[in-house]
Amino acid sequence: NLELTSSALKPVVWTIAGSDSGGGAGIQADLATIDDLGCHGCSAITCLTAQNSVSVTLVEPVSEEMLLAQLDVLLADLAPMAIKIGLLANQEQVNLLGKWLNTSLREFQKANAVDVNVILDPVMVASCGAHFASDKRSENQLDFLPFKGLITLITPNTAELSVLSGCRLKDLSDCHQAAKALSKRFECNVLAKGGDKGAAWQAETAKDIFVCIQAPGSAVIYQQRSFLLSSPRVESTNNHGSGCTLSSAIASVMAWGFVLHDAVVVAKAYVTEGIKQSGRPGKGPGPLARTG
Ligand code: PLP
Repeated sequence: NLELTSSALKPVVWTIAGSDSGGGAGIQADLATIDDLGCHGCSAITCLTAQNSVSVTLVEPVSEEMLLAQLDVLLADLAPMAIKIGLLANQEQVNLLGKWLNTSLREFQKANAVDVNVILDPVMVASCGAHFASDKRSENQLDFLPFKGLITLITPNTAELSVLSGCRLKDLSDCHQAAKALSKRFECNVLAKGGDKGAAWQAETAKDIFVCIQAPGSAVIYQQRSFLLSSPRVESTNNHGSGCTLSSAIASVMAWGFVLHDAVVVAKAYVTEGIKQSGRPGKGPGPLARTG
């Protein structure tokens, strides 16, 4: 039970992501999740998307100046316990954010002797299949290497894992190898999500591969260990924003002081229940219900 008596006690969680005008994913899903899990949500918006439940018609990035101004003004007052990063609109935004994590956030952590967990959802293809490249490419393909060593966890879906690893993923073993390679390359923990439709090995159960490089609750980097998180597949097309919800739930649970391993399990259960209880306000895939 994460209920609180005073809103002043709520841990602050940031989402750095894009706006979904349809309200099912992006910033809107993140803030709903963060609030549902008893935290105070702040947002740094990377881009506006014009979309409803069936299509995305326009993506417009904010300027680098605007993105930086949001990060700096929040750090000066509403400092985060955890950060979720979602849709970044272009490589300039990735570079800027990488630099900001490495300088401003690092200095803040040092000065205040705190660890701020950063969860990166490398949004390139939405779980509903929508594409986000502002220049009309089929994938919003970005080089996330500026985040190397600066994030706690990266949460690609199978399509994103394939793009990031440069490998065609034919089975679960391929996904595992790709997740391990990603963990090495980015020096972080990896949660390779298995919720995507279409993969034969995901037909019965949604299998997430969790590759971790830390013992629970420890900052000590050790050899990679892998866990398979399996849950019965929920037969529903109302999965819009499931990746956004998962990553912001992990950030929120960690902001409460839970270790990554627990946060991943709690967040997966939260998403599964959210899909089970989801509705359909438009003609297309509906958003997850909030069940905190
Ligand atoms: N970010 C924005 C702004 C979006 O609109 C979407 C999906 O439409 C996503 C991220 C990713 O969505 P999902 O969580 O379904 O992968």
